[in-house]
Amino acid sequence: MWTPDEVISFATDCITHGVKAVSLGGGEPFEYDGVFDIIDALRPRAYISVTSNGLPLFNHDVWQQLMLHAPDKIHITIHNPDNATEVNRVKAQVKQLASTIIKPGVNLLISSRKIEACKQAYQLLRDIVHPDQIILVPQRFLCTPSANDLASITSGAPFQSPSCLLGCTRPTNFCSISWDKRVNSCSFAGGKEPLEELTYSGMMNALQRVHFTHC
Ligand code: SF4
Repeated sequence: MWTPDEVISFATDCITHGVKAVSLGGGEPFEYDGVFDIIDALRPRAYISVTSNGLPLFNHDVWQQLMLHAPDKIHITIHNPDNATEVNRVKAQVKQLASTIIKPGVNLLISSRKIEACKQAYQLLRDIVHPDQIILVPQRFLCTPSANDLASITSGAPFQSPSCLLGCTRPTNFCSISWDKRVNSCSFAGGKEPLEELTYSGMMNALQRVHFTHC
């Protein structure tokens, strides 16, 4: 439901009012016409990251465009840590990105049913990236891992994960805006509210109306 011009003017207004970083997600952002226009317009003003499944980066035209209109960071998500093909593919793509000006990162989706596979995938990723480039993302709604499950993946070493790992706390320095122009302080929480206007103040007003509920 967002046109590129709407994204650019909305995000620019947010940046003017102090927002420091914008992360483009999806769906798959690299399948969205206009993603490179958005990156070009916003990158001089804020830190721009993109979360992708990585597959569109195999498309030669997408890769060429990416080299011309680079975000600061790309996070590639591993949805199936027990799938060796997917893990090795993402590992190769992270290495490829590391040879460019774009900083690579990985979102590793953790299911309580796949802890051993997640551990092996994490170790493979650690061969090529620093722990601060890997985010352990607990699966939500089903098979959600415990804090101890996550700690076991890194054998007790420090790791990155959402700050609500030990209990649901409404974020105060982040918000998530969805495809249907609704906002909440967390993408998983219930109680999203529509943006009545596509501005920073429209976003803040909507956030005040949110009745935040645990995912
Ligand atoms: S709703 Fe709460 S527990 Fe669920 S992801 Fe958001 S902050 Fe974390």
